[in-house]
Amino acid sequence: MAFRIYCGALATDGRRYNHRALVVDKGRIIAWEPYDPARLTAIEPPDVDARAYVALPGMIDLHLHGGFGRDMMEGDPEAIRAVAQRLVQYGVTAFLVTPLTAPWDAIRNCIRAAREARTDGSTGARVLGCHLEGPFINPKRAGAQPPEYIRPPSVQELETELGDLISELRIVTLAPELEGGLELTQYLAQQGIIVSIGHSDATYEQTLRAIDCGARHATHTFNAMRPFQHRDPSLAGAVLLRDELNAEVIWDNLHTHPAAAQLLVKAKGAERVICVSDGTTGVGMPDGYAFELWGHRAVVQNGAARMVETGGLAGSAITMDACLRNSAETLGLEIASLLCAANPARALGYGDELGTLRPGAHADLILWNPDAQRIEQTYIEGVLQNSNLETAGIITPATN
Ligand SMILES: [Zn+2]
Repeated sequence: MAFRIYCGALATDGRRYNHRALVVDKGRIIAWEPYDPARLTAIEPPDVDARAYVALPGMIDLHLHGGFGRDMMEGDPEAIRAVAQRLVQYGVTAFLVTPLTAPWDAIRNCIRAAREARTDGSTGARVLGCHLEGPFINPKRAGAQPPEYIRPPSVQELETELGDLISELRIVTLAPELEGGLELTQYLAQQGIIVSIGHSDATYEQTLRAIDCGARHATHTFNAMRPFQHRDPSLAGAVLLRDELNAEVIWDNLHTHPAAAQLLVKAKGAERVICVSDGTTGVGMPDGYAFELWGHRAVVQNGAARMVETGGLAGSAITMDACLRNSAETLGLEIASLLCAANPARALGYGDELGTLRPGAHADLILWNPDAQRIEQTYIEGVLQNSNLETAGIITPATN
């Protein structure tokens, strides 16, 4: 049955529209209807009264290792489902399972679990496939990736080790400057898998060669990459300058200074920057919570995930709603939503289906409370997933 969500405003594709009712039917947004707030009195179920809120497309996290005490590398579909069910609370409606540098059998188990979670019709945020981060990275820029499992780039090794699991890969982070890196870049690009340059020490020139071979994405820009210098603009400079590359950024004001994130948006335009969480098992866990990154101990400290041995950042402990809040502070909510929803959707080729509220898209959306600066409700396929409002008695669970 069709129902309407009466929104105070909706923001999509970088613009804001006041007083619109989203008409949802069979899991899709089928129309917008303007309404006159002075004339609208009672809103009856199954319609939803969201006049105090801004509707935004659900967020899509392209880089997520785990959360809420669960690790995608457990290789257990149940771990992925558990994360997917919690993510909706933070406004994430789709994500990529992100295996990291580890022994091949662990990577295989993680991808197999992701395949199962993607296809079993379970609830929570959608699993869109995998972002394989490593093992073909540069040991010089390993960051928190366990160095003992780093491998030289090799098409043959990837094919032998992953076989038909390659079809689950949507993004592969690799270091193209290593021997075999360009060949692997070309091979993945030909299969329609996005090559993301990351954990890389590539110079500017090496980055251009990787772009020529099909690289189109950069992993957590500025982190674990050769930094910009004026005589050595390097990978970071190429990310800033070259339109071919979409740029991930961890906008937690910790991995990236807000001014550096703003510089990235200014250089690339708001259409080519993508907020990612890089969240680990420590996401949503209290300070002092200890976990492992494939054999290396990490702990949540002041809201950050840090390696115990080195004190370095070990991925993050943040959620996408924080990325939205932080980027909105600089860019405004409409543009921040591009970075968190529209741009990741478009990068994966879902520009008309996800990350937008245009009629025809899936009804994956969030209701943002502009006063409290938080997400009050999340819908996937038009079905309410999570609500902070139940206690207020305002809300009607919508069904299709
Ligand atoms: Zn990562």
